Amino acid sequence: MTAQTMIRIPRFGGEVITPQHREYDDARTAWNGAVDRRPAVIARCRSTADVAAAVRFAREHDLEIAVRGGGHNVAGTAVCDAGLVIDLSAMRDVSVDPVRRVALVQGGALWADVDHATQAHGLATTGGIVSHTGVGGVTLGGGIGWLMRKHGLTVDNLVEVELVTAEGGVVRTSADAHPDLFWALRGGGGNFGVVSLFRFTLHPVGPIVVAGPAFWAAESTRDVLRFYRDFISNAPDELTTVVRLGTIPPWPVVDDDLHFRPAIAVASCYAGPVAEGQRAVRALREFGAPLVDLVGPTSYVDHQSGIDDTVPHGWHYYWKGTSLAGLSDAVIDVVADHAYRATSPRSYAAMFQMGGAVARLPRGATAYPARGVGHNMSIDAVWLPEQDDTVRAKETSWARDFYDALEPHRAGVYVNFLDADDGEDRVREAYGDDTYRRLAEVKAKYDPDNVLHHNKNIRPRAQEQ
Ligand code: FAD
Repeated sequence: MTAQTMIRIPRFGGEVITPQHREYDDARTAWNGAVDRRPAVIARCRSTADVAAAVRFAREHDLEIAVRGGGHNVAGTAVCDAGLVIDLSAMRDVSVDPVRRVALVQGGALWADVDHATQAHGLATTGGIVSHTGVGGVTLGGGIGWLMRKHGLTVDNLVEVELVTAEGGVVRTSADAHPDLFWALRGGGGNFGVVSLFRFTLHPVGPIVVAGPAFWAAESTRDVLRFYRDFISNAPDELTTVVRLGTIPPWPVVDDDLHFRPAIAVASCYAGPVAEGQRAVRALREFGAPLVDLVGPTSYVDHQSGIDDTVPHGWHYYWKGTSLAGLSDAVIDVVADHAYRATSPRSYAAMFQMGGAVARLPRGATAYPARGVGHNMSIDAVWLPEQDDTVRAKETSWARDFYDALEPHRAGVYVNFLDADDGEDRVREAYGDDTYRRLAEVKAKYDPDNVLHHNKNIRPRAQEQ
């Protein structure tokens, strides 16, 4: 008898995948191909009851638990060694009530699933900017995306959650039910339970929006960023932009001779009428001489998946995250000096423009705390699986050096941009002492034994030194 047939999770209706299973190697991969962990068992759940059964089983057998939503966390927290993975990848249903403008989304859904279902009704909610990213991890860390300056973070659109607690019980929480838990879930990560169902508010969006990137030569980075700083200071909430410093992707719409050319891109999305959007981005498109201008009317769904192929599953990634208060001349100098020192043409840095509706809620309204920052930045080293350790070493040093050079300007960090070597000090940095303390109290109430710790961990209050 194989070990696989020996593992039976009582009252579990999903699939149990152990090392002998033909799908084991696929099931244990994370988006980041550099993550290589071997869980003892992967419990691929089909229902909330399966999740509860898997949690109880893990506890009874003293197995460490990892939770897999979309599997995108760069630190690979979705997979653990020797423990049990609660795999939500078969729980991706999305149902939309277009009259009440709400969506019910299962805990393992991807943003592609949400966008597809909601845009059928001309509706959307703020989600991640790569469509193969998971709703679970993005939401629980806060959720930044193209619609945030108009409609708030993903968590600002979260109205109810069904979750399985660390004890294996099922709880529904909202502003009126277990409000402390509901507060903690809106930014506190996967520390408080395994979410089987999210309920989100939706807004009319598109289906056609003005969106897309424009690219300028790397040499003009300082000029572009100084212009950009002024441009966004007057931007309406409808407009959200992301700066990307790296190379021009080898897309078919781009001339071959521009592929992989070092460049600064400003990507936009205007969450409002097309004519207004065209006006809002005109000055940006007319600045200098863009090498490529792909800004224009496009379907929101296409925009949401527009850069999917620049960060595919299986490549190797290493991130350094930081937030910035704003783009001072000194910051611009550091960025221009460091951004193009990467040797891999796939490495890049991204700066998300914050503000708008995100900044209008007070700190403390949700566990996502950093509502006042100007930009959430991620410096992303990328290399191919077949490339050797020399490339890995060079790319990771590039990201670390870039990050170190930003030290005097750093203003916290978005928790979802932390990598595996970012320890407890950086988790505390992400929340600040006030929010961390409050989260630690909620953790002590709902997961006092820190069963759910294979994540960016909040330690229960009693375990804190
Ligand atoms: P997973 O690795 O599956 O989950 C990460 C952790 O979240 C899990 O280990 C678990 O602790 C917790 N978790 C996930 N689902 C659940 C659940 N249902 N219940 C309980 N806990 C759960 N972030 C943004 O905000 N905006 C972006 O636009 C954005 N773009 C990104 C693009 C790419 C290519 C990548 C790789 C990441 C991006 N991120 C973005 C960061 C993203 O928020 C994190 O990587 C996040 O952890 C991904 O969530 P996931 O469910 O895919 O990952």
